[in-house]
Amino acid sequence: MARPRGAQARADVVRATLADLYPDVQCALQHRNAFELLGATILSAQCTDERVNMVTPVLFERYPTASDLAAADPDELETIIKSTGFYRAKAKSLLGMAAALEASFGGEVPTDLDDLVTLPGVGRKTGNVVRSVAFGLPGLPVDTHVGRLSRRLKLTNETDPVKAELELNAMVPPDDRGRFSLRLIEHGRRVCDARKPRCADCELEMICPSAGSVVAKPKSKAVTTSKRARTTPPATPPEPAKAPRR
Ligand code: SF4
Repeated sequence: MARPRGAQARADVVRATLADLYPDVQCALQHRNAFELLGATILSAQCTDERVNMVTPVLFERYPTASDLAAADPDELETIIKSTGFYRAKAKSLLGMAAALEASFGGEVPTDLDDLVTLPGVGRKTGNVVRSVAFGLPGLPVDTHVGRLSRRLKLTNETDPVKAELELNAMVPPDDRGRFSLRLIEHGRRVCDARKPRCADCELEMICPSAGSVVAKPKSKAVTTSKRARTTPPATPPEPAKAPRR
């Protein structure tokens, strides 16, 4: 295959290739509605999806609606979500998010990104997850995998997730943004590892400007010695914190 010239041409090939590789990609966070996906995504910061999926059935059995969650006892809530890490901050975000849904949106999850990002614990990444997965609306969440692969594939040079999202949005049709993000995440987990990408096994090797040139970085001391890092491998970075409204 001739190397596509330019980011847009590369993005088109990446989209087509990943669609062939991962045609039925799904969000890994289990949920039954937008409210549960919103809560699960807040819990997924610095935690594996598998761990979140162990916690959310208990959480939403106890607090099935925004009203229930807004009235939760903070100590009991912290106990339920403790194993996801950063449980005090996450409990505050969940309580604040539920209270804001009750106060401003009739207990329902809004669909507009401008509304979603007003909720405590919710930034553009989480808002775009909810929009694209729960509502089927355009939304391209940029997590650590999406950012890393987009830069390695030279679709963007931006390290700021919001700037990267806006650059990617210009290259990806609105109705494919959510799936494109999920496919980049899947490829990042399976092939394009953060430390040791498996370029020789990668279907994108022929068109990837970084193929064979990513130098494996040694793990930082903080990662190798931190108990939290060992027990909760980083899946996505936490959203920028906002003060809960309660
Ligand atoms: S060729 Fe290597 S660096 Fe490029 S996307 Fe594939 S695994 Fe990642």
